[in-house]
Amino acid sequence: MGLGKSVVIEKQRMNGDLRMGKKRKQHRAMASRHIVLLSCFVFLAAQHGIQAVEYEVTNNAGSSAGGVRFTNEIGIPYSRQTLVSATDFIWGVFQQNTPEERKTVQKVSLIIENMDGVAYASNNEIHVNANYIGSYSGDVKTEFTGVLYHEMTHIWQWNGNGQTPGGLIEGIADYVRLKANYAPSHWVQPGQGNRWDQGYDVTARFLDYCNSLRNGFVAELNKKMRSGYSADFFVELLGKTVDQLWTDYKAKYGN
Ligand SMILES: [Zn+2]
Repeated sequence: MGLGKSVVIEKQRMNGDLRMGKKRKQHRAMASRHIVLLSCFVFLAAQHGIQAVEYEVTNNAGSSAGGVRFTNEIGIPYSRQTLVSATDFIWGVFQQNTPEERKTVQKVSLIIENMDGVAYASNNEIHVNANYIGSYSGDVKTEFTGVLYHEMTHIWQWNGNGQTPGGLIEGIADYVRLKANYAPSHWVQPGQGNRWDQGYDVTARFLDYCNSLRNGFVAELNKKMRSGYSADFFVELLGKTVDQLWTDYKAKYGN
């Protein structure tokens, strides 16, 4: 019965619409639809405006062997796409789900140039040595990707306001590379190395062990390093000193 009544009301409404003039009604509907779409767009743009990161890739190595190999085997579009994927991956590892939890970075630039070493990150710029690309023996695209995951971690990680030991900074960057499955075969195996803060692969393997004791350990350690650094962070998160953890780690692998 209620159903019949609502049908009648609907009919009356339709008739009313017809009386008001179909054209005017259509325009009004379209206009309101535009307003809805526009406000959705403004809302999304505002939301993205806060967190949008710009990426720029420049090949300054020109016609040098490395510059040419970069263009032929890697390329600017792939590099750009890798910067985006690495960023998403790093925010995931660090469990930073909102812009407030992340470092504020407007733009990341990647520069391919002939220089010394392999790569470095500074002032939101990543520099990769074209000579290294040119002379690398093997799958240079995979190696380059791993290097970008490492360097991109330096862009996004907290450094305890400059107090975090360098070995731990480098260890976290290689930990991310390890978790992204870009660890090269020449890295040390788990349990190897002399000191927990030796850096790079040695510290990355150790952090992987620590993270196995407490899932999310590396993310929590990074969060703690937003404003400073203390070796007590290991005690607070795992209940043991970092030296004790290193001893346990070495013992686990018979070292
Ligand atoms: Zn590094």
